Amino acid sequence: MRCFYHGDVDAVAICKSCGHGLCHDCCAEVGTSSACRNRCEGEVESLNDMSQRNKSAFQKASGVYTRSGIFTTTMGAVFAGIIRAPMTSVLIIFEMTGSYGLVLPLMIANMSAYVLARHWRHTPIYEALLEQDGIFLPHGKPITPDHDTAEFPSEAPP
Ligand SMILES: [Zn+2]
Ligand SMILES: [Zn+2]
Repeated sequence: MRCFYHGDVDAVAICKSCGHGLCHDCCAEVGTSSACRNRCEGEVESLNDMSQRNKSAFQKASGVYTRSGIFTTTMGAVFAGIIRAPMTSVLIIFEMTGSYGLVLPLMIANMSAYVLARHWRHTPIYEALLEQDGIFLPHGKPITPDHDTAEFPSEAPP
């Protein structure tokens, strides 16, 4: 390849902006790139700035993604622990974020929260609220007609 500006001299570099071959006399160093001396230096400088900004923007965006992933996973685990609905929590968080990458950590966090919450307090919050009103839901017991009427008070809760 010959220099674009001096046809008889071999090129030693290529301009990052226009792509022309450059000899020693026509080549200017801009950062780590080559540019046409007194022609493309400004253009190459802005190209370098742009790629540098792209790099830092990517780093910032990936940091935000990690933080919001941790936040939504924690939110789902708290929901699973309080409401005792781990799969519902996974679905809600998945619908909110649309991120497949969060599904496995969510499942692990939710099942841990569910198991721990069940260990520390056996009654889920909605059942505890019903028990405050005197309503006791049957758990895995066979429901017979006599049993049914005995479990539920005839009077409806307010
Ligand atoms: Zn030249
Ligand atoms: Zn150039």
